[in-house]
Amino acid sequence: MSAVGRITEMHDRATIFALSSGRPPVAVAVVRICGPQAGRALETLIGRTPQPRRATLARVCDPADGDIIDEALALWFPAPHSETGEDMAELQVHGGQAVIAGLLGALGRIEGCRPAEPGEFTRRAFLNGRLDLTEVEGLADLIAAETPAQRRQAFRQLKGVIGDQADAWRRKIIETLALVEARIDFSDEADVPEDLIAPALNAAQQLRSMIATSLADGGRGERLRDGLVVAIAGPPNAGKSTLLNRLARREAAIVSPHAGTTRDVIEVHLDLAGYPVTLLDTAGIRESDDPIEQEGVRRALARAEAADLVLWVIDPQEGQRPSGEASRKPMKTETWMVFNKADLSVDKLWINCESPSAAFTQTFAISALTGSGIEALIGALSAYGKAYFAATESALVTRVRHRHALEETVAALDRALAIGASGHEELIAEELRAAATTLGRLTGRVDVEDILDVIFRDFCIGK
Ligand code: GDP
Repeated sequence: MSAVGRITEMHDRATIFALSSGRPPVAVAVVRICGPQAGRALETLIGRTPQPRRATLARVCDPADGDIIDEALALWFPAPHSETGEDMAELQVHGGQAVIAGLLGALGRIEGCRPAEPGEFTRRAFLNGRLDLTEVEGLADLIAAETPAQRRQAFRQLKGVIGDQADAWRRKIIETLALVEARIDFSDEADVPEDLIAPALNAAQQLRSMIATSLADGGRGERLRDGLVVAIAGPPNAGKSTLLNRLARREAAIVSPHAGTTRDVIEVHLDLAGYPVTLLDTAGIRESDDPIEQEGVRRALARAEAADLVLWVIDPQEGQRPSGEASRKPMKTETWMVFNKADLSVDKLWINCESPSAAFTQTFAISALTGSGIEALIGALSAYGKAYFAATESALVTRVRHRHALEETVAALDRALAIGASGHEELIAEELRAAATTLGRLTGRVDVEDILDVIFRDFCIGK
């Protein structure tokens, strides 16, 4: 029996169904059915089995009383040529509450059918060997993608770019391991070449440098997944929330003339020149006796410190000179000085602009209220994002999980190479086996029960 067959037997044989499209009411709703009873369920509902993979117009009736639920487009994908590798049916109906409730209710009354859990369709695709784990993650990322660059990266991963590479490396390690094992098993036999270890170590060395190269990408792939984080920080009332709203072009933060109203950190996701940017509006950073406000300030500083770029906003009218406040700003991150409220007093502003603190790499004069100067700021942010994300889409490693697995592989290969010279073949084999196992965990080929729940937890029902 194939490995895939064995895995299939292990999982629940129930037929599952779910609404796979958006929240009703919508124009069209897609209900998917998957499992051994999918064909029978479809026949029960529409009175026949349509031709495989052909859209068929059909009347859907409730088997309990023959009541017409809707007219649907029915699709039938017999195993193994379906997304999950099992029998699958799909009904596209009108996306009204009552239609969907009627259809799901009727399905629930068919024996052997039950509602799907979040991510269960994809989980079956994985268990049936239709997707490896990195492809499953790529699918999750594709669904979550907010910008074209994220979408393209997720799509590459869904199409197996990292999984195929990891498999190729793993095969190479297993070949190398075979050389070492041959040396161990047949060490007494005359016709086995003396030196199998040297070529094995050579191959291990090459693999090690290839994997290390893909790790030395400065975390670009993960960054594209998570986005560039820009924190808007500065003293209260400088106009941070107003700036956030202007950049986000919507009322995401509460703009108020009273100091200290933005107590928590507000996040807005932007698509800047095709790249994902998360803007953080941090609470007014100032000393306060109010414990809630203190907590806001603490969080604001922590988030700003972790950001990739800080826009330090001040109101020159308030004497918020860069030198005084700058001493309290987070220094680890690149920081741009933004003089706000340019509509109020241009003269004063230019005096400040000419003498920015050395800690600031760029200086802007804007009015968050009127929008003057905003285009220059957005232009600079886009250029920054473009440089920041340069070549990120092609990065192989897109998640911390991948990075850990590859780092462990490199570490195991390093240990194998270190043992190399000493001639302990058993120990070399042991380390090569460990290297193959960590790569196997990356794609989900081995020993992954513990991480499955973590990965599938993020999926929605119907996927
Ligand atoms: P935050 O505490 O830094 O988030 O400041 P807010 O965005 O809440 O703004 C404080 C006050 O300054 C509000 O009354 C805003 O309308 C006002 N304000 C913000 N930006 C500008 C600006 O560019 N020009 C003027 N004249 N007022 C502004």
